[in-house]
This record gives sequence, structure tokens and C-alpha cells, in this order.
Amino acid sequence: MRLSRILAIFVCILVISPAGFAQKKKAAAPAAPAEGTLTPAAIQKALDEAYEKFKDVKEGKNADYIKELARVDPNIYGIAIVTTDGTIYTKGDLQSAVSIQSISKVFTMARVIEEQGPRVIMDKIGVDATGMRFNSIVAVELQKGKEINPLVNPGAIASTSLVNGSDSAAKWKSILQTHSDFAGRQLGLDGPVYISEAGDNLRNQAIAHLLLAYGRMYFDPVQATDIYTKQCAISVNAKDLAVMAATLANGGVNPVTKKKIVSPETVKYTLPVMATAGLYDDSGQWLYATGVPAKSGVGGGIIAVVPGKFGIAVISPPLSPAGNSVKAIYTIRAIIEALGVNPYQITPKQ
Ligand code: GLU
Repeated sequence: MRLSRILAIFVCILVISPAGFAQKKKAAAPAAPAEGTLTPAAIQKALDEAYEKFKDVKEGKNADYIKELARVDPNIYGIAIVTTDGTIYTKGDLQSAVSIQSISKVFTMARVIEEQGPRVIMDKIGVDATGMRFNSIVAVELQKGKEINPLVNPGAIASTSLVNGSDSAAKWKSILQTHSDFAGRQLGLDGPVYISEAGDNLRNQAIAHLLLAYGRMYFDPVQATDIYTKQCAISVNAKDLAVMAATLANGGVNPVTKKKIVSPETVKYTLPVMATAGLYDDSGQWLYATGVPAKSGVGGGIIAVVPGKFGIAVISPPLSPAGNSVKAIYTIRAIIEALGVNPYQITPKQ
């Protein structure tokens, strides 16, 4: 409100009302926050409303190219938001866990940036969207292993191969610890999913070998693919994922455990890759609709990060043709909109 208008209202109150001063004092009390701002009530309401709106959606289909994923209950539907002050909001199924799958790519990339600096990702992998499917071999071949990114399989396996550790066990230990630190609790492996994918991942092995042929694989390709397959099988629920996203939203400090996991510098370089390539071939559509960095996995989870404010995660296994959880997309989009946190939604200064 302009100063002149405020003054005019003040004068009116004094003139019209005999108890002008008392009324003026009352008007100066802090106003109730407008709907749509980030109050606890507004956040819980946004979760509750999205849940009611989308709980009966039956679109999409579980991934089945990893056999074990086809057996996951398609009705799992859990939503969680964790704010940067560590408050946790939930709705729906928080007990069921799924395999993290591609969402792990974010945290392994962050580990590599933390250990070796942002330049290594640019120089040894790339940060450009491939415009092709997440496990495209053509994408590697076209650019001779260059200009990919850590969020598609070739870049992710390369990223795994870069994690510090003299042998396979040390690299895996570091990756599992990183994921656990981001989640704020010790995470474990979904054994059946790991065995199911490990027994059937010739395509990822082929990608790793092709990268090696182009000098863009930085550890034994068979072992790097195996560690990558394990990291994809880490078991998480919606709250775990939301805490992980919130740690990114909070500049690398886990807002629940208060432990520093990575530096703000690492987060600064991790989020833009999520914004460009987080949702497979639909990354552009996602950013257009929400304005926030996100990452999906074929296990049915999606995380999104509203920098400085909160992390959000939804789990619902049925996927769209592009490989993203249908209900998670609907849910997160609706919540971002309801809370008015799209960073490109700018209120002009008058
Ligand atoms: N482990 C899966 C794969 O490599 C991850 C895919 C995904 O979630 O996009 O194929």
C-alpha cells in the first residue's frame, strides 16, 4: 500500500471515530497471513487437498522392465513436505518403501561435486539434457560420450565411477552413507529389486563399456554398473525422500538432524542439473509448469526442491510413458501452485 493511501486511511479513522486512536492501534496488529503463504496450516491444507483430489487417479503403469518393480503395490500413495526449519508434514502412506531408482543419481552427483568440485562434472560427464531416453545408447554414441549429464544412465554410471574409494566396496559404502546422511537415518538395500535388476542389466553394462571406449568411464565398467544398480535399489519412503530434498533446499544441511551433508556450493551446482534434466524427456514440461528442480525414479518417487523453503516428495508407482509417476506429478504441481512457491511467479513492485 502506498504511503499516501495509508496516511489518508489514518486521517479518516481519526476524523470519523471518536475512539480513533484505539482503532488505529488495533489495525496495526499483525495481520493474519494471507491464504497461500507458507504457514503450517496452509502447507497441511495443500497436502490434504491434493491427496483428496488425486487419490483415485488410476492412470499410468508400474515399470516392468525391472521385473520386481511390476510387483510393487500400485496403490501406494504417500506425500511428505519437510521445511528448512525441519518441520515434517505428511499425508497418505508413509510406511511403504520403494526403491529410490534414478532419484539416487542426484545424491551421487552431489557426492562427486563435494569431493572433486563442480568442474569435474562439466569436464568428465556434461550438464546438457540429451533430449533422449534416460538409457539411450544413441545419446552416448552421437557425442562420443560427451555432453550428457549425471541424471541419465550413462552420466549416472560415470558419476558413480567417479566417487572416491579405492575399490568397489569403498565406493558403495560412501554412496550408501551419503544417501543415509541426506535422509537422516540409516538406509538399506531392497534386496529383491537389486537382484532382479542386476540379473538383467546388460543395457547399462553396454552403456558403461561404450563410455569406457570413449575414455569417459572412470572405474571398472562392470563394477561401476553394479554399484549404480545397488544405489538404485536403496529403499526409501516418502518421508525419507522429502528429508533428502529438504537437505538440498536447506543448502546441504539436513534440517532434521542439523548435520552438514554437503556445502551450499555443491547444492548450487546440483539443483540446476535437476532443473534441466530431472524428469527424463518431460523435464521441459515440468519446469514450465512448476519452475522448480525435481527428480523422478522408475520406482514411483519424485522429489522437488523449493530452494530455501522446503523439499517435497511423493511416492506412487504407476508411471507415465516418459517414466514419471503420474500421481506424483499431479500432486507436486498442485501443491507448488497452491502454496505459490514457483520462483518464477513474481509479484511486481508497484
Ligand atoms: N535402475 C534404473 C535403470 O538403470 C533406474 C532408472 C530410472 O529410475 O530412471 O534403468
